Amino acid sequence: MKVARIRPQPPPPALPRGVAGPLLRWYARAGRDLPWRRSPEPYRVWVSEVMLQQTQVERVREFFVRFVTAFPDVRALAAADEDEVLRLWEGLGYYRRARQLHAAARRVVADHGGRLPRTAESLRTLPGIGRYTAGAIASIAFDVPEPIVEANSRRVIARLAGFERPLDTPDAEAAVWRMAAALVPQRNPGRFNQALMDLGALVCTPARPRCTDCPLAKACVAHGTNRVDSIPATSVRRRVERIRETALVVQHGGRVLVERRGPGEWWEGLWDFPRSGSAAKGRLLGRVAYSVTHHRVECVVRGCRSTPRFRTGKNRRWVTPAGLAKLAMTAPGRRIAALLKTVAHLW
Ligand code: SF4
Repeated sequence: MKVARIRPQPPPPALPRGVAGPLLRWYARAGRDLPWRRSPEPYRVWVSEVMLQQTQVERVREFFVRFVTAFPDVRALAAADEDEVLRLWEGLGYYRRARQLHAAARRVVADHGGRLPRTAESLRTLPGIGRYTAGAIASIAFDVPEPIVEANSRRVIARLAGFERPLDTPDAEAAVWRMAAALVPQRNPGRFNQALMDLGALVCTPARPRCTDCPLAKACVAHGTNRVDSIPATSVRRRVERIRETALVVQHGGRVLVERRGPGEWWEGLWDFPRSGSAAKGRLLGRVAYSVTHHRVECVVRGCRSTPRFRTGKNRRWVTPAGLAKLAMTAPGRRIAALLKTVAHLW
């Protein structure tokens, strides 16, 4: 029997010292003014960090304010209906985050008296809270010296330490977490973590970092050894897969049929027009193209009239055009709904 040999990885390089002071001073004058930072209560930090998991900061701003206005605390979120939560999440994508946030709010109320646990370890027992989010909540909301690693801080840490390996392997990921844990100070860990992320977003950018404006330039190994352009190392990008599909706009009596996406599907729990095989018949209404993860989907939209023979229920409904606006819909579903407004003969 062949035994796979595990290649030992070289240890991560030593980190420069004296990073916290200059970084925190820079953060005090140049850090980003973000709505969740103005009053960093645990609930607000948690919501913002879940939104930031796969979405850009600028996009999160507006959604965050809308969300915490509708659900100002964990009890309000726990008491909400899931459809209402998804409706407010619409446009942010990755809806699993919203469902898990909602489920976790119910757990916090049921098991923790409505207060978020303070340690990263207990936070990670809640749905949707992984290592990054737990570290962010513990450090920012509770001042616990936990590290966090996300796209911006990962790049800063790799450059600071002169860490040359591509960062998207489990070994490299583990090494960066170890370095982040070694960097985070006992005092002001939350501010330090936010400062590291801001430095990555504003100064230590992926292309053309502004090293001359960087508070850490003296300590930075990549800068000191002229390797900023090659760190982090790039890895081979995943190929885009093309998919074709047909969406059916089934009409009856001024209403259209919509279905809820099932478990394991993209946009699980959200509403959309039914999909059919590419040979589906019906009048051509238009085309919608969209991207999901590494897929590029070309969707042909066809319309047909029908008797209301479909069995409707929790996951399938006939709705009016006005009713579509009130549903939490998938991104392509929303675009098909917009397309229908231009096809006057439908209604
Ligand atoms: S000196 Fe340049 S490469 Fe190093 S942390 Fe600062 S901006 Fe990034």
